[in-house]
Amino acid sequence: MNELILVKYGEIILKGLNRRLFEDQLIRNMKNVLTENVGRFKVSKSQATIYVEPVDESADIAKAVQKLQKVCGIVSISRVAQVEKDISVIQEKVIEYLKDALARSYTFKVETKRADKTFPIKSPDVSRVIGGYILSKLTHLKVDVHHPDIVVKVEIRGPGAYVYFEKVSGVGGLPVGSSGKATLLLSGGIDSPVAGWMIAKRGVKLEAVHFYSYPYTSERAKNKVIKLASLLTPYCGTIKLHIVPFTDIQLAIHEKCPQEQLTLIMRRFMMKISEKIAIKNGADALITGESLGQVASQTIQSLGVTNAAVDLPVFRPLIGMDKEEIVKIAKKIDTFETSILPYEDCCTVFVPKHPNTKPKLEKLLASEKHIAMHEMIDKAVEDTETIILEPGEEF
Ligand code: ATP
Ligand code: MG
Repeated sequence: MNELILVKYGEIILKGLNRRLFEDQLIRNMKNVLTENVGRFKVSKSQATIYVEPVDESADIAKAVQKLQKVCGIVSISRVAQVEKDISVIQEKVIEYLKDALARSYTFKVETKRADKTFPIKSPDVSRVIGGYILSKLTHLKVDVHHPDIVVKVEIRGPGAYVYFEKVSGVGGLPVGSSGKATLLLSGGIDSPVAGWMIAKRGVKLEAVHFYSYPYTSERAKNKVIKLASLLTPYCGTIKLHIVPFTDIQLAIHEKCPQEQLTLIMRRFMMKISEKIAIKNGADALITGESLGQVASQTIQSLGVTNAAVDLPVFRPLIGMDKEEIVKIAKKIDTFETSILPYEDCCTVFVPKHPNTKPKLEKLLASEKHIAMHEMIDKAVEDTETIILEPGEEF
């Protein structure tokens, strides 16, 4: 049987003259996830739809649907049967292809989309003919146009007619690579992977930076972050993860600066180092998982002094979200289970008992004078280890 996948995208359609660039990026990203272990597919586009067709026996349609569900920019994915544009062939195919789904249902309706206006029968008439045919063949079924158990879909477009009943939702948004590149500060927590995912969904290519403080944080904690980054790759493609040794800087801050300023000076260091790595790698913004008021370092004033450490724009997509909403997304994108593994993070190793919630920038700047900041930053950037994570790799 001639079965294939139809992929629909949303926002890209509004892109006017640039639409082609977005479509081509999306197709490239789709091809990247349809790797060897999914089998061979041909990907092509026509009239705001992308066709993913099996090339040979190796093609696993169910697996391909699963992979495509994570590709940013896709709104829906349908597994369909293709037939010639002939009403009697279409109605036979509906009965054959949707046999099981129709047997499970009591009520149905038919919806037709006629993208090919040369087809002589108008959409409502196609629906009526096919509905009548279904009723004549499967006598347990009734039509219900308001709340049917199953909606039989028929599309007449491009090379053929397509029959299906199910649409699975995609991630939506824009294809990664269509809106530039940004550097995600990736901790081992729940928030930052979600923040990265939300920005990737707007078409942004991600790189990630992680700070670790060996031996205060363990090898396991580092591996957990590598795993988190790899869990993001099905959505955003290859990720370069920069792992920055942070122990010396943390010890210096601990030694030279007042207790209550530790967290914020540390955060300012993180921002400065991330900015350097971002610029070196052609990224134009930073991303963090901060959410207003969640902890002492996330008050308005604290965010202000953290921001003042850098010139690049800082995206904080979680800023207005509650923990519960963030957790919901973390579960949806499959990072939650890894994030809650109980390994220490470099932020939690040196936490002051009474952190400053209303910091003054001048005071922090005065304290920072006691540390050889530039040298330490350059050294950390120099000693950074970079790992490249490809979609489909397991960790
Ligand atoms: P998360 O759940 O993402 O760890 P959090 O609620 O624990 O966030 P903080 O620990 O204050 O909050 O960190 C705020 C943000 O700073 C994180 O979301 C992340 O973007 C960045 N960050 C914190 N620790 C690290 C780290 N070790 N490496 C890289 N980025 C970090
Ligand atoms: Mg954290």
